[in-house]
Parts: sequence; C-alpha cells; structure tokens
Amino acid sequence: MGKRSDILLIYTGGTIGMIKDYKTGALRAFDFDKLLKRIPELSHLDCNIKTVSFRKPIDSSDMNPGYWIQIAEIIEDNYTTFDGFVVLHGSDTMSYTGAALSFMFENLAKPVILTGSQLPIGDLRTDAKENLITSIQIAALKEKGRPKVTEVCLYFEYKLYRANRTTKINAEHFEAFDSLNYPSLAESGVHLKINEEYLLKPNRRKKFQVHKKLDNNIAVVKLYPGINEAVLSGIFNTPGLKAVIVETYGAGNAPTEDWFCRIVEDTVKKGIFVVNVTQCSGGSVLMGKYEASTHLQKLGVINGKDITSEAAIAKLMYLLGGETNKKAFKTVFETPLRGEIR
Ligand code: ASP
Repeated sequence: MGKRSDILLIYTGGTIGMIKDYKTGALRAFDFDKLLKRIPELSHLDCNIKTVSFRKPIDSSDMNPGYWIQIAEIIEDNYTTFDGFVVLHGSDTMSYTGAALSFMFENLAKPVILTGSQLPIGDLRTDAKENLITSIQIAALKEKGRPKVTEVCLYFEYKLYRANRTTKINAEHFEAFDSLNYPSLAESGVHLKINEEYLLKPNRRKKFQVHKKLDNNIAVVKLYPGINEAVLSGIFNTPGLKAVIVETYGAGNAPTEDWFCRIVEDTVKKGIFVVNVTQCSGGSVLMGKYEASTHLQKLGVINGKDITSEAAIAKLMYLLGGETNKKAFKTVFETPLRGEIR
C-alpha cells in the first residue's frame, strides 16, 4: 500500500465557510477552522489534511489578480510537500480563478481542485460536504504512486471539470457550473468514475513554473443590437488598453456597418489585440463562416474559437504579463496552452 496523500486545503472565502448574520440576515465570511470542526467526516478520509486560510476570507466578488497571485504562491511554497491542493472559493468567480491559475501554473504535475458550495457548510441542506469531501478524495487519488489528476479543476455537484472550460450558469441550483465545450473529467456516483481520456497528461520532465505577472489592461465588450459608436469607441480608446475581447453573436458574427469596422480596424492598427469570443455559452467562433465575420478575419482579429470569456480574460492577462512578442501573440492565443481551447 502506498503512502497516504498529503492534501493542502486553502480557504479563500465564499458561501461554503459563511454564516448567517442573524441581525442583518446576510451571509458573511467566518473563521473556517471553527467550521471544519463541524465536519468530523474529514478525519475518516484516507489522507492527511492541512489547512491554510486567507487572513481575511473574501466573498469571491472581491477576487482580483492580486489574490490569484496569493493563491498561486501558497501552492508554489507547498508544492513539493503536498500531493494535491483543494482551494475553497466562492462560486461567483470560481471559473475566473480556475482559468487564471491554469495559466499561471506551467508544467503542473499535481491536482489543484477548486470547489465551494451554494449553501454554507453549517446549513442542514448544504451541498458543501459532498463538494469538499469528493474534491479532497480526487486530489488524493494516486496511480503508481503519482497523482492521477494533474491539472487545475473545478468540482461541483458530482462533476469534475477542467476549470478553464467552466462557466457559472446558475445562481441557485446546486448544479451551478457547466463546461459546454469540454466533457467532464470525472463523475461521482456510487463510484468515482474518472474519464481518463480527457485528462491533461503532464510532462514530468519539465520543471513546474509559476507565472505571476498578470496585466489587466484589457476590456470585454458584449455586443447587442443597438450598441452605438460612442459607447464602443469609448471602450476601445481606454487609456493604456492592450487587448479587448468582443463577445460576438453566434459563430463569431458582428455588425458589418462602416463605423464598427473602422473602430476595429483603427484599434488593431494601434497594436491593440482584439479577440473574438462568442457570447453563446457553448459552441465555437468560426470566422469566415458568415459574411458577418469575414471582415473581422480580414482585420486581423484573434479567433477565440471555443474559449470561454472567463478563460479568454485569464489568458490575455497571462500572455500580456509575459514575454510573448507582438507578432506571435495571435498565434499563441489561438493555440491551446492548458487545454482551454480546441
Ligand atoms: N457570493 C458568494 C461568493 O462567490 C457565492 C458563493 O460562494 O457561492 O463568494
């Protein structure tokens, strides 16, 4: 029998660890160590668990690149000591954090599982226990003495997903996430079924690296019928802007009117990257399929293919913060780096 896995549980905040303030009725973050004592089941798991917590746990609406770096540093500092990591995180921005961590960690060879819950862990009907316990079990899984899952994942309501493929799709159902463009990596029922063929394979000969430079000089514009020139040019002319994601219609389509084309053309000419990401939750951008996207292709707009907006944001911040040269940027963005794009 192999050695028991050592798991580091990182609590950043979110509903999972919140309690109700009975005066106001609102949920607020709470001391997680005290809450953990309410889950005696954890001691029955076949692994050793250590916990660390953000000094001040946050609602994930306050998440930002500074906190991403904090989480990444906790994992970096403990990378050799632990076999797997479970990050407890509010569900609201969990997909963004999962995507960001996936890019920040290069040559990851251990599991990093993000999870949380829709109801606090102290609530009678909570979904937190299953999410937490199964996440720890997945992080502890080994094959031939090595971690079985070696990527940044998100576990919620009986499913394990590649984190950078997920989107929060529901604010009240326990099934809060989906991964419309990539199959789930595992399903938990009576047995834990790992879908091996969909897992990323690590290159263990390459050294684990943590990239901490993230550049947030980006913008996201969602197109809608009636969007006007003043609004669009206001966003595209934001001082310091380096890239903009345009959430287009369907398979990557956008208005063909002159004023729209001119703004996009001027922006690309200024060296600002424009990325075409569909506003549909599933499916892919296919530039050139319709005339309504051929113009974007000709103007040098980057093809976001089937990437989620969350992953596109994280990928831009990561690439802009790094050393990718301007000429190669489009090609690098269109290439899968962590299984985030087809
Ligand atoms: N507002 C909470 C958060 O994202 C919701 C949750 O935890 O599910 O922190």
